[in-house]
Amino acid sequence: MNIIETKNLTKTYNKNRGIDNINISVNEGEIYGFIGPNGAGKSTTIKTLLNFIYPTSGSGTIFGLDIVKDSSKIKENIGYVPSEVKYYDSVKVKGIMKYAQSFYPNVSDEDLSKICIDLELDMEKKMGELSLGNKKKVAIAQALIQNPKLLILDEPTNGLDPLMQKKLFNILVEEKKKGNTVFLSSHNLNEVQNLCDRVAVIKEGKIVDVIELEKATKTLGLKITLVSKDINEEIILNIGGKILNKSKENNSFIFLYYKDTNSLIKELSKYNVEELLIEKENLEDTFLNYYEDKGDEK
Ligand code: ADP
Repeated sequence: MNIIETKNLTKTYNKNRGIDNINISVNEGEIYGFIGPNGAGKSTTIKTLLNFIYPTSGSGTIFGLDIVKDSSKIKENIGYVPSEVKYYDSVKVKGIMKYAQSFYPNVSDEDLSKICIDLELDMEKKMGELSLGNKKKVAIAQALIQNPKLLILDEPTNGLDPLMQKKLFNILVEEKKKGNTVFLSSHNLNEVQNLCDRVAVIKEGKIVDVIELEKATKTLGLKITLVSKDINEEIILNIGGKILNKSKENNSFIFLYYKDTNSLIKELSKYNVEELLIEKENLEDTFLNYYEDKGDEK
């Protein structure tokens, strides 16, 4: 059974586009990313899945249950972290966490303190004293409290420092190991590419692709930036380079290369090269350029 399944899920705000015929299937136990720029429709999809807003047309299920009719039942097994977290300033972290615990009779004090220690929450601080990142940590702790079968996180890395982001990703991998499913949105594919099993790319309200990351990462080539007075476009094309950018003025090229690295080095060593930078091809550049190109063709 798919944990999340949508069929032509559509939401318009008056006449304006929110999301347009979204079809996604999220398997049990996977970490599924939902990637797109601001305004693409990520939050609208999530809010519709959680029945915070009604679909204009189309339908969806979570755990095989209808997202509108069965929403209360569905929510018993979901942990959700919104993109913007808001709390009363005067309440202490301890108060928030105890309140969250009170909804779940099976959650012991030990369970609660383990989560709070893992996320390094300062229980005595008032919410008004916390930075955005620390408020977000409280929301994440609340979402994890009852060991939900499905975690839905809307832009969870916003406001988190790199260390905390790493910690969060470790927690999400642990959730996956327990057999739980994670659905998270992000505007940055690079940030989540090592975490997710698959990502759906959303652009202007529509799903434009679903990428299996392990497969996609294996096919990545090298991105070469070079400066040389001796090297021209023809030479780069002859060695099999796909030119992304060139500047005659600076004698520079940026190109992608998918063949044998030794041959590349041998070829380039025939010329006087002033600067050379060899990097792994960037998944986000590759996919997002592709979608932008497609958009321009229309
Ligand atoms: P994302 O989460 O990817 O940044 P959103 O789902 O918030 O995108 O927004 C998708 C589109 O729906 C945008 O064009 C946005 O302006 C519009 N939208 C979102 N919420 C509302 C709302 N409450 N009223 C009107 N339009 C909205």
